[in-house]
Amino acid sequence: MSDVTKLIHEYLRHNKKFPHVFCAGCGHGIVLGSLVRSVHALQLQKDNVVIVAGIGCSGRMAAYVDFNTVHTAHGRALTFATGIKMANPELNVICVMGDGDALSIGGNHLIHAARRNIGVTALVLNNQIYGMTGGQCSPATPQGDMSMTSPFGSLEQPFDTVELAKAAGANFVARSTSFHANQLDKLMQQAIVHPGFSVLEALSPCPTQYGRKNKFRNVVDMYNWLKKNTVKVEKQKEGDTRIPTGVFQNLDRPGLEERYVELRQSLQAEE
Ligand code: SF4
Ligand code: MG
Repeated sequence: MSDVTKLIHEYLRHNKKFPHVFCAGCGHGIVLGSLVRSVHALQLQKDNVVIVAGIGCSGRMAAYVDFNTVHTAHGRALTFATGIKMANPELNVICVMGDGDALSIGGNHLIHAARRNIGVTALVLNNQIYGMTGGQCSPATPQGDMSMTSPFGSLEQPFDTVELAKAAGANFVARSTSFHANQLDKLMQQAIVHPGFSVLEALSPCPTQYGRKNKFRNVVDMYNWLKKNTVKVEKQKEGDTRIPTGVFQNLDRPGLEERYVELRQSLQAEE
C-alpha cells in the first residue's frame, strides 16, 4: 500500500467522504470512478495496472488509486508510458492526460504514439481549457469561447481529438462524456483491453475555469449541455451538428511492443 493510500485510509477512518482536490461539479471524479470500475470489471490485477499521469487537474487522478502510478512532467506522460510498456508488455498501461497536456505540449507524443501503435490506453480528459493554471485557452477550446487568454473569444480552430488520433493511426479511438457514465464505462473497458494504441476522449466539465467564463449558469447547466449537444455516432444523421460519441476507429494491427518481441525472437533464432 502506498503512502498516499495509507493517508487516505487514515482520513476515511474519521471522515465519511473521500478526500479529493477537485472543485464541486468537476467531471474528473466521474471519469476516475469509471476508470476504477473498469479495472474492477475487467478483473485486472492491481499490480499489473500502471497509471501514468500528466500535469493538471486530471493528473491528480493518479494519487487516488492503489495501482502502480507515475505522476510525470507536463506533456510527457506518453513518453513514460511508452518506456514502461516496451520494458514490460504484460502491464496494462493507462495514460491519463488533460486536453492541454495531450494536445498541446504533448501533442507530438500523442501523434507518434498513435503512429507507432504502442499498446497503451490514452485517456484524454477534455474540459476545453487549462483548468489548474487558471483557465487559459487550450488547443481544445472551441473557436469563439472565452478563456483567461482569449477574453474576447478564441480566434483559433480547436483540435478534434478523435479525428487527430484516427488520422495518426491509433488502433482504437472513442469518445464519451462525464454525463454518460454508463457509456463511459463500456468504452473505457474496450479501450483498456484493445491491443495497440487506444485513445478515449472524455468530455469533462470544468465549472470553475470554463463554465464561469462561458456564461453557464451553474454546474447542472454544463451537464445538461453535454446531454443536449452529443449524440451516439450510429444515430447521427447528416446535418446533425451535435458532437458524436461512441467508437470511431477499431483496427486490429499488432502493437509496437508485440512487433518488437517478434523481431527479437526472430533475430535470436538466427544466432
Ligand atoms: Fe475540475 Fe476545473 Fe476545478 Fe480543475 S479547475 S478541479 S478541471 S473544475
Ligand atoms: Mg484541460
